[in-house]
Amino acid sequence: MPGLTHWQSPQFHAFYPAACSFPAIVGELLSAGFGCIGLSWTTNPAYTELEVLTMNWLGKLIGLPEEFLNCSRGSGGGVIQGSASEVIFIVLLAAKEKKVKELTAQGSSSTEAEIRGKLIAYSSDQSNSSVEKAGLLGSMPVRLLPTNKDGVLRGNVLAKAINEDKEKGLIPCYVVATLGTTSTCAFDSLDELGPICQKEGVWLHVDAAYAGAVFVCPEYRYLNKGVEYADSFNFNPHKWMLVNFDCSAMWVKNSKYLVEAFNVERIYLKDQHKGMAPEYRHWQISLGRRFRALKLWFVLRSYGVEGIQKYVRHQISLAKYFEELVSKDDRYEICSSSMALVCFRLKGDDSLSEKLLENIEKRKKIFCIAGHHYQRFCIRFAICSELTHKQDVAFAWNEFKEVTDEMLGVKSH
Ligand code: PLP
Repeated sequence: MPGLTHWQSPQFHAFYPAACSFPAIVGELLSAGFGCIGLSWTTNPAYTELEVLTMNWLGKLIGLPEEFLNCSRGSGGGVIQGSASEVIFIVLLAAKEKKVKELTAQGSSSTEAEIRGKLIAYSSDQSNSSVEKAGLLGSMPVRLLPTNKDGVLRGNVLAKAINEDKEKGLIPCYVVATLGTTSTCAFDSLDELGPICQKEGVWLHVDAAYAGAVFVCPEYRYLNKGVEYADSFNFNPHKWMLVNFDCSAMWVKNSKYLVEAFNVERIYLKDQHKGMAPEYRHWQISLGRRFRALKLWFVLRSYGVEGIQKYVRHQISLAKYFEELVSKDDRYEICSSSMALVCFRLKGDDSLSEKLLENIEKRKKIFCIAGHHYQRFCIRFAICSELTHKQDVAFAWNEFKEVTDEMLGVKSH
């Protein structure tokens, strides 16, 4: 089909998976067919209630602490947003209002406007562009802190930055830790960042947009250690968990901060069921809502826990297979291999790998993009499509070998 980039092709290895499955498509079709909009519980009870239910299921599925779930005793809960970018922005605004209220209540001598002007956020230099964008939209500068050679943000780096800023009179407000960075799928040291945020009274958000899906497999949950310190968490079932775009799952430990930040009442929104179910319009930017929970419900019910685990593990095993193939050829080096993403390069100057990727692009048989690993150019090879099998990985590897042979003018090893 011309004019489309074929994200579902087994030869698509760029960016990250664009989740797609028949159950999700059916859910999406039905929801389009119902032709309803959710503004409040009354305008569509099932919209709200199925979202509460599926977000509880999903939270349990990835092993989130109970406090994040609607079914817990506290005021935690999950909601489906359109994108991780939206989540990171919304949470920044909530963190900002929380901090302003706290300091004002503590009798700060600064005006609210003065407090707002001093707030500062932190993330790593490997965090997604959406973090910096949230800062731009929300008028809060974001300091992108240096990561170690594996792309990981460590606690000591955050602590140092916070201390420096406090000395300058700034007010640390918001930290975004990434579990699964876009470039190389690195995991920040959440268990180091968490206690620092707690001590400093800084809102900690965890962005696990791509890699969050891996927590459906208990053997990977060690990478989520420290999540109990987080105030909010997001991952995108629309990336790596088979639910068509858009479906970005977000949980907060205390929904009060969202509701307080975004609650604007009007007579036409009065609801006699107030308090019985979350009014999700206070948790998001738009007023109207789609029935996104339906496609999530279809996927969860059709695949089941084991089906989703099998899918994720299979994709990781394909990446491992690719890594094995690359490792056997000593013209290449593996920069990183994490989840279903392998980053590699030709040994030597960056220009060699740049040329390799350029030639691969020209041939149009497979699609990969570039990344950076420790300031060096690398090629990102991601397992994306559910249709990708071992033979497709072998096919991709052959492409790399053929192009490399042509470029270097030698036979492959
Ligand atoms: N965070 C991370 C780690 C990502 O990899 C991405 C997308 O690549 C995003 C956030 C942004 O996701 P979205 O397109 O849902 O805004």
